[in-house]
Amino acid sequence: MYAKPDSNTMTTRIARAEDAMDAALKSLSYRLTETEDSRMAQKIPEAARPAAVPAPLNGLRNDNAPAPAPTAEIAPLPASAKRVPDAIATGRPSREEAEAAVRTLLRWAGDDPNREGLRDTPARVAKAYGQLFGGYEQDADALLERVFEEVEGYSDIVLVRDIPFYSHCEHHMVPFMGLAHIAYYPTKGVVGLSKLARVVDTFARRLQTQETMTAQIADVIESILKPRGIAVMVEAEHLCMAMRGVQKAGVSTITTQFRGAFRNDPNEQVRFLTLVRNKS
Ligand SMILES: [Zn+2]
Repeated sequence: MYAKPDSNTMTTRIARAEDAMDAALKSLSYRLTETEDSRMAQKIPEAARPAAVPAPLNGLRNDNAPAPAPTAEIAPLPASAKRVPDAIATGRPSREEAEAAVRTLLRWAGDDPNREGLRDTPARVAKAYGQLFGGYEQDADALLERVFEEVEGYSDIVLVRDIPFYSHCEHHMVPFMGLAHIAYYPTKGVVGLSKLARVVDTFARRLQTQETMTAQIADVIESILKPRGIAVMVEAEHLCMAMRGVQKAGVSTITTQFRGAFRNDPNEQVRFLTLVRNKS
């Protein structure tokens, strides 16, 4: 018998710089808790939340609005399905307001938004945000809607590795980027391989923590495909760590999620990791 891990979240940090290791490990336990808390928070249906409790999101949410009547939709949704509509539905600023905010930040940084080189920057930044954070407009569930059930009984591992992504950390709005690897054992069918890459892209193009993103990818695939097992590994470099704070470049952070067969059987984890690392 294998010892069953008491949590399905295994987060491991591999830091090449030794003194960064301590700091990384320290923040690890903190971040794990935080991630779990925030995921729990997302699973509380809006209607069940007492009005007096401050919303986890910022002032964009209108807490004075009457609570919506409870609906049948009480079952917890995957984080992917819930997070977006609340965040963008209420009080979304206009494009002009967004550009004004960029001008404010330029002045805050110490520059003159009216000088020639910066004159069009607010408009460019607002436009770039549409792309960099385009994931808020996308529904990861819908991407996986089309399941191919005719796979001639194929039920062995499906692995897509080295999916590149670019995201932004939600703490500093500074990029982090790297590779995602996804594996699952199909039961009711498979999805187009490019769809898995688009799922990664959808979550990456939001403000993220690497831990949350890893869990969201696993959540959405699990909820739609109902695989016998799913493994997700994300490795990334965080520019907020390289450019500010401890200022260590080349530090790689690795997060994993193992569900089902991958969670219960260490041999499956070894198989996954071997396939990911074996870049023959
Ligand atoms: Zn950061």
